[in-house]
Amino acid sequence: MKEQEATPDRFAVSGRNRLKRRHDRGRYDHEAVYAVLDAGFMCHVAYVIDGQPYCTPTIHWREGDWLYWHGSSASRMLRHLAKGMPVCLTVSHLDGLVLARSGFNHSANYRSAICFGTAYLIDDPDEKAKALLGIVDRFFPGRSGELRQIHGQETKATSVIGMRIEEASAKVRAAGVGDDEEDYDQPVWAGVIPIETVIGAAQPCPRLLPGMEKGAGLAGYRAGRRLDDTLLEAQQLYEGEEEAIA
Ligand SMILES: Cc1cc2nc3c(=O)[nH]c(=O)nc-3n(C[C@H](O)[C@H](O)[C@H](O)COP(=O)(O)OP(=O)(O)OC[C@H]3O[C@@H](n4cnc5c(N)ncnc54)[C@H](O)[C@@H]3O)c2cc1C
Repeated sequence: MKEQEATPDRFAVSGRNRLKRRHDRGRYDHEAVYAVLDAGFMCHVAYVIDGQPYCTPTIHWREGDWLYWHGSSASRMLRHLAKGMPVCLTVSHLDGLVLARSGFNHSANYRSAICFGTAYLIDDPDEKAKALLGIVDRFFPGRSGELRQIHGQETKATSVIGMRIEEASAKVRAAGVGDDEEDYDQPVWAGVIPIETVIGAAQPCPRLLPGMEKGAGLAGYRAGRRLDDTLLEAQQLYEGEEEAIA
């Protein structure tokens, strides 16, 4: 695929995000990129300070083509990014271990998304207040309405960074073993070992007030369910709420 302008449902493709290796596994449309981002709770944010690359894991959330993350106002990463810095944010999911008949052909099934943009500090008080509710409600629909109000000191101690996705790519491997033809008669087990991240049984806080039940917004977090399915559902509920408010 050559360089392309953005369209309403696809990111621009440039030398920065165009897949060269296994480009058949790549996608640039919003649907594919958002599916990987929204199925993940954790991302890795990469940036350079004084020529030194850093890559920091954190929690991200998405609204339209904006990504957000937050942290302590004292965080070096957040203080640095507040200046408007180029960032590369990655989300990846491991879906399977692919065991081939040669070491070379071992592989992994995965979904990953790489997003490029410029990070900014969200310093408008209304925008920041909305973002701080967003991080709760995006994961646990409606939960911010059940919590005590955020204190001014807590808002001050927290920085929120926002980044409009300028360019992005998704890459997915969802396939079986790809051995060399002459290796299929090797006497060795080969196959795929699927990997899932599954929600465990909730452990109520020992200091819970009597009679407290989990709110309706936590219904998706059922023991045994895949986390990525729950996160995708929560994102859809959050987007629905946002649309209803707008
Ligand atoms: C769990 C896991 C296991 C992997 N195992 C292997 C392996 O064994 N061997 C191997 O070669 N690769 C593997 N990959 C893929 C790896 O992430 C790279 O895509 C690959 O190494 C090519 O890197 P590159 O820098 O040459 O990519 P290029 O194609 O040169 O990258 C150009 C642009 O393409 C996009 N891009 C590249 N890779 C990805 C990606 N993974 N997700 C989203 N966008 C992407 C980015 O925008 C990037 O800037 C694995 C990925 C995962 C998540």
